[in-house]
This record gives sequence, structure tokens and C-alpha cells, in this order.
Amino acid sequence: MKILVIGSGGREHALVWKLALSPHATEIVCAPGNAGIAGERLAKNGKPVECVNIGAENWPKLLVFAQKTKPDLTVVGPDNPLAMGIADWFQKNGLRIWGPNQKAARFESSKVFSQNFMETYGIPTARAESFADAAAARKFAATLGGKCAVKADGLALGKGVLICANTAEADKAIDDILVARSFGAAGANIVIQEFLEGMEISLHALCDGKTAKLFPTSQDHKRALDGDLGLNTGGMGTYSPTPFLSDAELQRAAETILKPWVRGCAAEGIDFRGILYPGVMLTKNGPRVIEFNARFGDPEAQVYLTRLENDLVELLEASVDGTLEKIELKWKPEASVCVVMASGGYPGNYEKGKLIRGLDEVAKLPGVKVFHAGTALKDGQIVTSGGRVLGITALGADLKAAQSAAYEAVEKIYFDGAQFRRDIGAKAEKMD
Ligand code: AMP
Repeated sequence: MKILVIGSGGREHALVWKLALSPHATEIVCAPGNAGIAGERLAKNGKPVECVNIGAENWPKLLVFAQKTKPDLTVVGPDNPLAMGIADWFQKNGLRIWGPNQKAARFESSKVFSQNFMETYGIPTARAESFADAAAARKFAATLGGKCAVKADGLALGKGVLICANTAEADKAIDDILVARSFGAAGANIVIQEFLEGMEISLHALCDGKTAKLFPTSQDHKRALDGDLGLNTGGMGTYSPTPFLSDAELQRAAETILKPWVRGCAAEGIDFRGILYPGVMLTKNGPRVIEFNARFGDPEAQVYLTRLENDLVELLEASVDGTLEKIELKWKPEASVCVVMASGGYPGNYEKGKLIRGLDEVAKLPGVKVFHAGTALKDGQIVTSGGRVLGITALGADLKAAQSAAYEAVEKIYFDGAQFRRDIGAKAEKMD
């Protein structure tokens, strides 16, 4: 089977790596890919994965490419092409594609839509209201004492959420987004949620339009620096599973979130085939959904896909075909930890083109896999080409073993200015 994967980050490298292990995969092409993706080979026939230089958001060109090369399945990694309706365009042209259509992708591309949906179908979430008018928004924020999250409705490169501690901060956030339009058209409407205290975790469920199959828990580390300090980033590391919910509590949480979600999708005619990724706050009153994403998290995908036992081609096919009900998801009992190594200065300005050393040595370590994100090939050598550069991912008998293995590998990799967090998974240890 010939597969086209769209995207270029660590998530897409993890997808390509796992797809390449499947005996069903006979050819994999990735657009645009990265140096690590270009280094993968298919288990079935040893064929190298091919990278083609078409950007993930250039869906018209991707469509033309797919019409010409006729992949049996296209797999979409990032949120933007899904929000632009790439799945709809491929389907209209008779091409099989995995990832939600534009209407279903609204769970991520519109926070107003998501918040209304959660309220209509009784999904536990924060107390919240939506606004287009700044004066009304300020009034509502004041009723929360200004302790709130002010969120731009649309996609804003993961930066459209401002956390406020008092009314002055809330008023400024409202003005920034609604009046000054600091996130452009994405901020024509906002959602204001009460500020929720608790441990934040990621849930994922694979969906096929009728059935949602829940994954184990994972936890991302959004801030740039140890101890959750510094600026928000795309994600500096993850681990799975987390100790914060027992299996029974996870099942209960899933019942309160996924059951009404599936019912709501049916009622609204939303045909969601892909990954639903709710961001969840474990509050003292129970789990509360603070946002929905409509694709794999990055770097959540790296820890999930290293733990997944099933054949990923079969899972994605079942998600497209609506036959997930028959499939049982199987996970390795080991823990997985992913430590992101980023360019110095990220998420602010950073330099590119730094030579990366130590990858060959780390490739020999058992249970360790380095997923590439911002890397490129230059004169036959692998150099940095983005903010997040590598996701060093390790399996271990337990979280501590996985952490040691991941950090041992991190110590062997070097590039000028490399920065990473030393506390990935530390919150779980505090539970011991
Ligand atoms: P979102 O993109 O909506 O997940 O928001 C980005 C980050 O802001 C989340 O990962 C949380 O850490 C934080 N956040 C969002 N909403 C809330 C909330 N209602 N209460 C507390 N923190 C929040």
C-alpha cells in the first residue's frame, strides 16, 4: 500500500516511523518531511521513505500531487491543513484521506464552536461565555474577578490563549485580542473561561464517525523552562502513562467526555474520523475539558506511537472506514518519555543550520528513538532548521527507567545552543 503523510514535525516523524513498521506499507512519501523522516526505511521491503518539497498547508498542490501519484491513503498530521478542508478536497476527488473534514476540524479551529458544543451536550468544562463585544467581555471577566483564560476563537499558532490573574490583566487581554486584533481575524470572537486549578493532562481518542477509542493518558510540558517557567512553546516533552488517574477514573472521565461528544456529533451531523485530543484539567470537582484539538498532539504522538502495539495502517484504515468498533487498542505496558531538544532562544528568535552530532551513537541504544522535527540535510550532514529540533523518546519498564534512558541519550547529542528541560515527567514522581 502506498501512503502519503503530510507534515514535517516530530509528530509526523513518529507517524511515518510507525507506518513504516507495518507489513501493509510498501511505499511512503512525506510532504515536506525532514531529515529524520528521509532516513526511515520500510520494514516490508527496505525502501527508503521519500520526502517531497510541498508545504503541509499548500493543499491545492498536495491535491495535484496526490492525483498524479495516487496514494492508497493520505495521513494528515498538523491542524492547519485540516482546518483548511484538505480532507474534503481529497474526498471530493476520490482520494482516501485520514483526518477530520473541515466541519469536524472545527473542534480545534473554533473555540466558540467547541465551547457551545460542550455546553449543549453536557461535557464537563469551565464556566465560560463567548463574545464579539469588548465591553460585554470585560463585564463577564469582572464577575470572575479577572481570574480567567481569554481565548481567541480561531487558530493562532498555539498562542491565542492569555491567562489572566486580575481584572486589569483580563481587560488588557480582551483589548489585545478583540480590539487591537493581535491575532488577526482569529480574534474576531473570544471565549472567556474561568481559571481552573489542577493538573493538566492530555487525552486522545481515535474516532471513526461513530466510535471513539480512548488512549492511555499523557502529559505535555508547554513552558520552555524547568518548573513550568518561561514562555509557552509547542511542547518541550511528554510522557505516558501519567499516574494522576487510575484506569477506573480514566474510564469514568472518558464516559463523561466521550459519550456526550459522540452523541453531540451524531445530533449535529459531524462525521469525525481522526484523533480527538481533549486538553483536560483535573480539578477538585472532577475532570474539565479546557479545549479540543482535532489531531495528534506533538509531542504526545511520539510517546503514544512508541507504546502502541497495533498496526497503525490497520487502525487508520478502520478510522477512515468506520470499522473501529471491532478493534481493540493494545499498548505496551512500558512507560514512554519524550524530551524535546530545541534551538537556543526558542520559542523566541533562534539560529538555524547548526550541525547535530551524536545521532549515530544514540541510534544504537536499545529502546531509544530520536524523532526529528526541525532538521534538514546540508552537504550530507544533519543540521538544525527549526525551533523544536529533536524529540528523544525512550521506553522503560517504568517512568523512572524511561526518563533515565531518554536523558542518557540526550547527553550524547550535541548542537550549538541546544536547550531542553531536565524535568520531563517530574510531576509524576512527586506522586510517588
Ligand atoms: P488551550 O490552547 O485552550 O489548551 O490553552 C493553552 C493553555 O492555557 C492550556 O494548556 C492551559 O495550561 C492554559 N489554560 C487554558 N484554559 C485554561 C483554564 N480555563 N484555566 C486554567 N488554565 C487554562
